Amino acid sequence: MLTALCMLTACNNTSREDKQAPADDGIDYATFEYKVDRFADIEILRYPVPGFNSLSLQQKELVYYLSQAALEGRDILWDQHNRHNLTIRRVCEALYENYMGDKSSENWKQFETYLKQIWMANGIHHHYSEDKILPAFPQDYFVSLVKSVDPGRMPFRDGMAADETLNEILPVMFDPKVMPKRMSQAAGTDIVATSAVNFYEGVTQKEVEDFYNAMKDPADNTPISYGLNSKVVKVDGQITEQVWKLGGMYDKAIERIIGWLEKAEAVAENEQQRGIIATLVDYYRTGDLKTFDDYSVKWVADTVSRVDFINGFIETYTDPLGMKGTWESLVNFKSEEASERTRVISDNAQWFEDNSPIDDRFKKEEVKGISAKVITAAILAGDTYPATPIGINLPNADWIRRDHGSKSVTIDNITFAYAKAAEGNGFNEEFMWSDQERARAKEYGTLTDNLHTDLHECLGHGSGKLLPGVSSDALRAYASPLEETRADLFALYYLADPKLVELGLLPDEEAYKTEYYHYIMNGAMTQLTRIQPGKDIEQAHMRNRALISNWVIEKGEADNVVSLQKQDNKTYVVINDYDKLRSLFGELLREVQRIKSEGDYEAGKALVEAYGVKVNAELHNEVLARYEALDIAPYKGFVNPVYKLVTDNNGKVTDVTVSYNENYVDQQMRYSRQYSALPLKN
Ligand code: ZN
Repeated sequence: MLTALCMLTACNNTSREDKQAPADDGIDYATFEYKVDRFADIEILRYPVPGFNSLSLQQKELVYYLSQAALEGRDILWDQHNRHNLTIRRVCEALYENYMGDKSSENWKQFETYLKQIWMANGIHHHYSEDKILPAFPQDYFVSLVKSVDPGRMPFRDGMAADETLNEILPVMFDPKVMPKRMSQAAGTDIVATSAVNFYEGVTQKEVEDFYNAMKDPADNTPISYGLNSKVVKVDGQITEQVWKLGGMYDKAIERIIGWLEKAEAVAENEQQRGIIATLVDYYRTGDLKTFDDYSVKWVADTVSRVDFINGFIETYTDPLGMKGTWESLVNFKSEEASERTRVISDNAQWFEDNSPIDDRFKKEEVKGISAKVITAAILAGDTYPATPIGINLPNADWIRRDHGSKSVTIDNITFAYAKAAEGNGFNEEFMWSDQERARAKEYGTLTDNLHTDLHECLGHGSGKLLPGVSSDALRAYASPLEETRADLFALYYLADPKLVELGLLPDEEAYKTEYYHYIMNGAMTQLTRIQPGKDIEQAHMRNRALISNWVIEKGEADNVVSLQKQDNKTYVVINDYDKLRSLFGELLREVQRIKSEGDYEAGKALVEAYGVKVNAELHNEVLARYEALDIAPYKGFVNPVYKLVTDNNGKVTDVTVSYNENYVDQQMRYSRQYSALPLKN
């Protein structure tokens, strides 16, 4: 079920000095500190929430309760990522708080960095590369820390002594051969057995596939999302599911989520929204995936409420088999002014579908229910925190998208914070070919980047259709990168269409060139800064960006359309013919749509493997060296604002305040104290 989902992450290094501050809302932008922390390959940023203070009291209260419900799911995600994660985190946090020895040593500093890294990844595997994060301090040092702290202050399970806990976690933390990958995609291996995620235990890939295939009815036109909310285990030789629900796995956290959702229900904006929250609560109580579909259908229909949210087991990127949903939440409210842009796009959705370069057999006769809006994020949680998407398109169930449409959002205040943090970082000067590209980036960069996200999310993912009888699972492990490729190509193709100028979405016919240049520079070169030397590209969005960029460079080199050129031993993307480049995007879109619509697994595999996976080592080393000199962190995460209820003497809520002064360590430690209901062993 990886076909339709999307969490578009930002390629967020390009400096965008054109970005204006949003309307003033009691936020002092002149002194707002976007940069919070910096360690390893990570920079932590802070985002403002413009407009929060202008919400009604009821809306603010709603945001508050939904935010609490969001934060309560944190430990679920940690445990989903690996079954030792909660133990390791709690041991490390207890050391961080209670160790009384030398805190100026190099080893202690490395220990602090490790803790910050696993907070960022919600576990011991890198949030992006999926590789296990190996501590830069020795195992002996860690053991000495654990033994030096009063056992009464350590989170040892069921009276377990330090030694027993250490026996459990030391190999998981320090042995590079134990659980090396959170999610393994290596062809020819048992990807269930070789993945460190906690979705399966004691079962093989074949057993899991047989288990779910036996449930599926090929004639079912509205199938549930099989396996979305459970762990698969073997009990007495029988394969069975442990369902994530009240009274099931993750009971204690889900109980708290429900508690906050019920408070939210009481202050919902309208009956429709009340019904949505009530159905979600019902789903958490029963674990019934039909109820989850009911909820999704209701949720997608709500286009009137100002405050909106995601809360649940949603995206399936981290499951090697693409079925299990990681827990995530995002609370947000509509940015009315900026949403005018997405309104124009969704109003014209049918025109875009009819005029796309794909084969008519694969076009939707009637594009349904595409709603798109620009939102302001109020809280990020679970799989959207600290690393966060800039655009989301949901729900993921193909039949709901087909029959009821989808909701697509662009998260404005997050892209704003990225842009502010990137100001003056020297990136464009280093990697762009000439002043012409740099000048365009400055003038149109933010606009075209946001527009690309809008087109990708609200039209790209929603366009096209499968031929009758083609399964949405047909492309298997290649489904996700190919789906992202399709959505990106749709956006790229249309960015250059005169229709966008006609609709008032772009100011002139020059602007799109900014995004074309930026896209290929990133896909062919600068995104490689996120890959370690010698490694392949694994992440779906990165594979898709490499695929598109490398493919057009190969096809476009001969006609001098687009190429990589060297000057002073530095490689640059050079685009000579933007018109022809657009035709190449159209040509590739046509082929990728055919692959999806026909379920042509072999062709899809060939395309991804040829253009989206392997890295040119020489170019890679060059880009890494140039990037290192700029000293920019390849990955960004965020801290959340802090919301507080203000009550009068009778306990009646009179206001909700927002503040922005919590730092990364304090926030993570507070979350661990305040929102940590799960036992160590789930
Ligand atoms: Zn996408």
